[in-house]
Amino acid sequence: MERRTVQFQARTRNLFLHVLTRCNLRCRHCYINPGQHGTGVLDAPTMARWLALFAEGAEVTNVVFLGGEPTLNPALPDGIREARRLGYASVTVDTNGFLFHDVLDRVAPDEVDYFSFSLDGASPEVNDPVRGAGVFETCTAGIRRARERGFGVSVIFTASRLNLHDLPNMPGLLAGLGVERFFIQVIGIRGQPAARGEAGLQLAREEWEAVVPGVARAAARLGLVVTYPKVFLAPGEPFACAGRVADNYFVFPNGRVYRCPLCEDFPLHSLEIRGDRLVERPPIRESDLFGLEIPEGCVLNRILHPGNLAYDAEGRPLHRIACCMLKEEVRPAGPRRPRGA
Ligand code: SF4
Ligand code: SF4
Repeated sequence: MERRTVQFQARTRNLFLHVLTRCNLRCRHCYINPGQHGTGVLDAPTMARWLALFAEGAEVTNVVFLGGEPTLNPALPDGIREARRLGYASVTVDTNGFLFHDVLDRVAPDEVDYFSFSLDGASPEVNDPVRGAGVFETCTAGIRRARERGFGVSVIFTASRLNLHDLPNMPGLLAGLGVERFFIQVIGIRGQPAARGEAGLQLAREEWEAVVPGVARAAARLGLVVTYPKVFLAPGEPFACAGRVADNYFVFPNGRVYRCPLCEDFPLHSLEIRGDRLVERPPIRESDLFGLEIPEGCVLNRILHPGNLAYDAEGRPLHRIACCMLKEEVRPAGPRRPRGA
């Protein structure tokens, strides 16, 4: 088994393309914010032009199609094919598992690297209070169908106080379903949770560290590649803001382009798409915050997620918070399993 911190790669561009904000579900921790990002739906020609904007200028460019629920957009297969045509190195679709518009029939396994399903519990009893009645059954049926058709499948679990206790049950479920990659996320207090003031769902360092690394190792022993955010830096570990050193773009249907996902609830985007051109915005924007140095590490986390922080009697932070995009990866020992096998 191999564990490593995945450092930001300046030569790799990652495009997170929200092709609409609408969704059929109402998950408790949903971060989608139509008030900031509109209710537009990208049509195929717009998707093609926007994909072209980000296809040039990096050695490697990856795209993740997101929503809302991206499969509600009937033009998604056109966007997927266009991304392939433009030479995107990897294509991922994040889905809640409902797989609308017969998407599995409209794209081929060699056009999509991964369908990435969101599942927040290893049983309906844990998952469905978070994601909605009947969602566990629908999502796991979607995973099975995707696997039967030869697609690569990953699963995203958003950990909070609602479901952390169930995380140890996930590796067995996922291995049985033939899932290849497992992404453990930490709840962000954005979108719906922010609007409802649900900061109490956040995990303290002790809760996170008592469970997540051990589950990641258990999943890797079962053959899964596991990725989870570092969240807390060890003493002496360097802090870096991805907004300054990585090449990530979070694009919304109203043309806003963010470099940091924690800023998405605010009109602080660095760039916007206007007339099919990528245009820099004037201050104040998120990029004006990236250079601020504070003892807590990430400035945005200090503002938005104070529940992650703890201080000593003199008011010094007990630990620094890593950039939300800094990840740990745990891989199974031995040769890589061929994709789709
Ligand atoms: S978290 Fe995802 S699946 Fe759930 S309501 Fe929001 S967009 Fe839909
Ligand atoms: S999460 Fe914090 S450290 Fe990471 S890009 Fe945003 S502001 Fe920078």
